[in-house]
Amino acid sequence: MLRFIHIIILMLGLLVCSLSGMAQAAGKWNIYRIDGVDYVKLNDVWKYYNFKPKQGRSGFISYGAKDMIVSVKPSRQDFYVNNYRYILSYPVRTTGDQLMISTIDVKKLVDPVLRPNKSTKKEAIGTVVIDPGHGGHDAGAVSPYAREKDCNLAVGLKLKKLLEVKGFKVVMTRSGDYFLTLRQRVEIANRTPNSIFVSIHHNSGRRAAAGIETFTLAPQGTTSPFAKTRRFAELEGNNQDRENIALATAIHSRCIKSTKAIDRGIQRARFSVLCTIERPAILFEGGFVSNPEEGRKISSASYQNTLAQSICEGIVNYNDVISGGLRRTNKTGSPRKGSNSIRINGSNTYRGTTRL
Ligand SMILES: [Zn+2]
Repeated sequence: MLRFIHIIILMLGLLVCSLSGMAQAAGKWNIYRIDGVDYVKLNDVWKYYNFKPKQGRSGFISYGAKDMIVSVKPSRQDFYVNNYRYILSYPVRTTGDQLMISTIDVKKLVDPVLRPNKSTKKEAIGTVVIDPGHGGHDAGAVSPYAREKDCNLAVGLKLKKLLEVKGFKVVMTRSGDYFLTLRQRVEIANRTPNSIFVSIHHNSGRRAAAGIETFTLAPQGTTSPFAKTRRFAELEGNNQDRENIALATAIHSRCIKSTKAIDRGIQRARFSVLCTIERPAILFEGGFVSNPEEGRKISSASYQNTLAQSICEGIVNYNDVISGGLRRTNKTGSPRKGSNSIRINGSNTYRGTTRL
């Protein structure tokens, strides 16, 4: 039930543009408090991005511009961008005839995904820290079809080679079958300047469960299905929220496209490695070892190559976006001109035309 407390005149600059360095306010949005969470009208958000109603995902309400379509559904946390799935921190709500979206989702998901090039970071990735999950006595998920620790390492080592060809420095948290604590993995990234952290895992679940999912840290002030304890509830997110979701988008969308796996979405979590990392970070789950069909695929070199290739492409794209095309020098020594938007489904993400 809607508890309308008061209307705050919100300067958009404070909401979504503080990171962009643009000071002028784009508009005034009313904020509504619903069950303790701040919401804005989705119509105001779409107006800001100059989005119009579109024919989109079946059963969903879709808006967009050019080749960009976003879809939502009342009472649901699903948020689709060009048919790639994200999980909002709070459900879309309805008040009167208006759909409402939480301000934190606008700030921490919608805007960074639609305008990843608004990041404050302007330096190229120094080092990619690849973290193959588990190892040694910790096998991770195990099934008759695959053993997680082996698949994580295989994808990680393939990814390392591909990234090095592209001119990236790479550090592996482990390059063999041995055990590291979660803290040790995080420390490697935290002491590596200007790095990003890509933790590679595979899933386990019911026999029918299948698909790829990518986790980023739940932003401060949000709940998370993986944050049950008080300690986790109090964690503050980190100052890489924008980079986290951009990195997840770049990698996840490519892996879904290349593998045609079920899209379980880009989700929020407060996993230990994501909570304590001081670098842009994702935890990637490349499929279910417990699913007979997917489990067999996961243990095949061809699927592992596909995943590694897609993750590599995602990192290249993220790097180009975040650096504003300034950065990485490739092996031939020539500066690499980057694109300024993360590609989803082969099309560039929408860059708002509304002047700030
Ligand atoms: Zn795992």
